[in-house]
Amino acid sequence: MLLKRLYDTPEGWTAERDADGRVTNAPPVKGLRLYHTGTNPEQNFSRRMVDAGLAEGWLTMGKGMLMIDTEEETLEYTIVRTPGTYCCHCDAKLEDDPSGASARAHVAQTHADTPSPDASNPAGVRVTNAYECTLNADQHALWNGQAHAARMAKGEAAPSRKAQTQQAPPRQDGKE
Ligand SMILES: [Zn+2]
Repeated sequence: MLLKRLYDTPEGWTAERDADGRVTNAPPVKGLRLYHTGTNPEQNFSRRMVDAGLAEGWLTMGKGMLMIDTEEETLEYTIVRTPGTYCCHCDAKLEDDPSGASARAHVAQTHADTPSPDASNPAGVRVTNAYECTLNADQHALWNGQAHAARMAKGEAAPSRKAQTQQAPPRQDGKE
């Protein structure tokens, strides 16, 4: 997916950078611009991205949903899995036991003598550090990467449902 942060840049602002060239005085984030949501409706959000979105105010979670508020549309993702340990056989969420003992016990008791269906996790247990989500089907149809590329090729503007339903705030920087 491709999202870009929009900054609330004060007049006369200039970037200050550290020795590695990273900006150290980034202005506050005022929103996100949505370009496309990627090839598939399935999307993994890292804890880091979720934390950044919560801190910057463009991401909310609740009732099994992860919502990303952009200038164009509020993307609605159903949370399929939260970070944690899962059984490769039955997809049950297992205890986050650092030793792995309880996860191994589940596999041994429930799926004894059955090889792991996941070749990359032969023990039959999978750890994810991401929020594994699925995008609302209508939004995927509208905002997927192929649709975005087709619009770019034809020089068409991106669709914006928000613009049709609510008054956009006045632009102050004159660039957009
Ligand atoms: Zn299981």
